[in-house]
Amino acid sequence: MDLRENIKKVRAGIDAAARAAGRSPADVTLLAATKTQSSDTIRAAIRAGVTVCGENRVQELMAHLEDNAYEGAQVHFIGHLQTNKVKYVVGRVELIHSISSEKLLRAVAAQADKLGLVQDILLEINLAGEASKSGFSPDQALGAARLASGLGGVRLRGLMCIPPAAHAPGENFPYFESLRRLAVDIRREMMDNNIDIGLLSMGMSGDYFDAVAAGSTCVRVGSALFGPRTPMAFTHD
Ligand SMILES: *Cc1c(COP(=O)(O)O)cnc(C)c1O
Repeated sequence: MDLRENIKKVRAGIDAAARAAGRSPADVTLLAATKTQSSDTIRAAIRAGVTVCGENRVQELMAHLEDNAYEGAQVHFIGHLQTNKVKYVVGRVELIHSISSEKLLRAVAAQADKLGLVQDILLEINLAGEASKSGFSPDQALGAARLASGLGGVRLRGLMCIPPAAHAPGENFPYFESLRRLAVDIRREMMDNNIDIGLLSMGMSGDYFDAVAAGSTCVRVGSALFGPRTPMAFTHD
């Protein structure tokens, strides 16, 4: 596996997808999904040009922070987060992508309040209504956005989704397109609050091309950069 070569390839794919959609490649961040990777691999990725790392598991986040593995890059939290682990994440990452329930939203805001900071967040939307995945239903999204904008400790920056695994090009485009539309609807409904929720975290190794075509501002890519993971990679904390 040649990390530098993989990063170049994925970045070129993102840029091509953006241009094909009439978008600026600079508007799409490549986030390296670093779950199961070692601190040394993370450092190598950052040396090779990765500017944002995304962690799935609190335990790995803490270990990599301890190792100073993210030096020179941002770190985001993208995985399932339990309310009792919020204290290990709030204030330690630039952005939490995976606010998936009202309970978690309130817990993150309360912890941020306690620390005297404002945590940037995205709302995770479960577009396909998959029981195996967390997130707000599209119907709940506006209510959650309103709640977030009323809580002092958080700043809502946008939406995130993890659609079902795609088996063919174009398959997930409708999901990505509906997340973009949902963000537009929320923005229109909440105009008075002067909020800026322009971030759309969507697209992974198998479908980032479609995500960028549909308006993604951040693709979260793991295996296309680091190679295949061990099967335990999808377990949660
Ligand atoms: C693992 C993971 C990714 C990256 O998945 P790949 O298919 O390896 O690119 C993206 N987002 C989340 C939330 C993940 O857990």
